[in-house]
Amino acid sequence: MSITVYRSDKWMQQCIPGEEDMIRLGMFLATFLKGEEIIYLRGELGAGKTTLVRGILRGLGFTGRVTSPSFTLMNVYDSQPPVYHFDFYRLEGGDLTDLGLEDYLGKKGITIIEWPEIGASHLPQDALIINIELVEGDYDRERMVTIQASGPEHIKLLEELTQNVPTGY
Ligand code: ADP
Ligand code: MG
Repeated sequence: MSITVYRSDKWMQQCIPGEEDMIRLGMFLATFLKGEEIIYLRGELGAGKTTLVRGILRGLGFTGRVTSPSFTLMNVYDSQPPVYHFDFYRLEGGDLTDLGLEDYLGKKGITIIEWPEIGASHLPQDALIINIELVEGDYDRERMVTIQASGPEHIKLLEELTQNVPTGY
């Protein structure tokens, strides 16, 4: 299947038809990760954020279960490099300072955060920012995925992604 890519030097955008394509996008992303990245996943409930994380972990060779950390707030996967997967949804109005987030951000590993807007004031600006949008509000349909970056390392990563993204998975 062919998947059109829209790109500029500031963002890359792709229309992802179904769940399996979202997994493949995650696997593609994973091949460019070195282990020090921060990835923010934005998009409403059911947009496909955790599905994308599943793809990233599959791409890193992790064979265990990848679940939503919405109740535990965080899952750690002992992939190579390790992944720290946060979901701040249930922190709304709560306190992020107890979470020890700084400890993870300083460690070797990939930090992925769903609902970063909820913890925005505690989070670094430099990151890969992935926005997942429903098309016409329909949960069974394609998603528009837009990837942006902030800070030199993540901008370099976005450039690599943009240059290599397959238009058919
Ligand atoms: P979130 O973490 O954003 O709340 P999930 O990844 O847990 O979302 O759930 C997304 C749901 O939407 C899954 O049940 C998945 O099967 C479904 N889905 C339907 N179409 C797509 C698509 N194009 N991309 C991703 N998920 C899709
Ligand atoms: Mg989720």
